[in-house]
Amino acid sequence: MSLRRLGEFGLIARLQSRLKFRSPRTLAGIGDDCAVYRDDGRRGKVQIVTCDTLVEKVHFDLSTSAARQLGRKALAVNISDIAAMGGTPLLALVSIGVPRKTPVRFLDRFYDGLNEISEEYQIELAGGDTVASPSHFYISVTLLGEAAQRRWFCRSGARPGDKILVTGTLGDSALGLHILKSGRKSIAGPQAVKNRLIQKHLDPTPRMAESGMLAKSRARITSMIDISDGLAQDLAHICKASGVGAVLWEESLPTSQAFDKVTVLNDIPARNLVLAGGEDYELLFTLSPENVRNLICRFDKVGRLLACIGEITNDPETVFLMGKGGQRKVLSKVPGFDHFTP
Ligand code: ADP
Ligand code: MG
Repeated sequence: MSLRRLGEFGLIARLQSRLKFRSPRTLAGIGDDCAVYRDDGRRGKVQIVTCDTLVEKVHFDLSTSAARQLGRKALAVNISDIAAMGGTPLLALVSIGVPRKTPVRFLDRFYDGLNEISEEYQIELAGGDTVASPSHFYISVTLLGEAAQRRWFCRSGARPGDKILVTGTLGDSALGLHILKSGRKSIAGPQAVKNRLIQKHLDPTPRMAESGMLAKSRARITSMIDISDGLAQDLAHICKASGVGAVLWEESLPTSQAFDKVTVLNDIPARNLVLAGGEDYELLFTLSPENVRNLICRFDKVGRLLACIGEITNDPETVFLMGKGGQRKVLSKVPGFDHFTP
């Protein structure tokens, strides 16, 4: 069996199936954005932990990412996983693999970026590990946080009839990456507009404020995930974990003005970027239908975007896209990001 055939998620499932020990304190383990465990010392709270790794040439290219931005992103993508659980980040451990030729000033700038995000979100960088790496730079961040025992979100609670909601806009990061890869000059459009898209790719904002609003609300949120691998794939993760299916309404999928402008000007097919473009770091969640209007109103009042984009069905694990004319297309085959399949 090759890794290519197994794919990233097949590999994780295979490794998971070999693990025998389970702790009675673990409330959510492999298969969610974070692991969640009971804190026997602190009443009313659960502890949360997550880790994400960024590898040069896989996740970033030093010719297009500045060191400072990379430091910001390394922490931000982990905060996004804590946000997906409705939690608050507290403490981070940062491990770096450093090729011997790396300039020290690059590492200084990288830590400037980490520092900015750690101050902004009040996360202490309390340790880590430093090792030499033969050719590529990599960063692995472990982030610990906590959530209310009675109010944290996982991928597995979606029910048929729930609505599907998403914060922000979709596809900007993937389009930003496309502009970087093609070279800014070869893509038509105002520089400021292109920069906004590139910014979303290089320096994503984790949706902590939105997550905080959701955690504080009384809305019946039944599942949540952050979009790192693309809308269709991450929604499929919710469906799989919950044993349900979903239909997305194509007309309701939110895109930014910058995205619309650049895709139209350059004749770039938008749909695939919106459905399968990774690294949006928006929150995708399911909600009881009676709470939808009120929640969108509340987000609107504080100038934050929230869109209702579809509905959970009882068709197990099938994700459909419903077009403008009401025609349905099975989306299970739209690829999201997988580390091992081409
Ligand atoms: P995310 O995109 O939210 O960071 P991933 O898609 O990377 O999540 O991982 C899916 C799930 O599999 C997570 O629960 C993660 O903790 C778990 N996981 C990933 N790699 C491994 C591994 N090598 N061993 C054990 N669990 C893993
Ligand atoms: Mg995640």
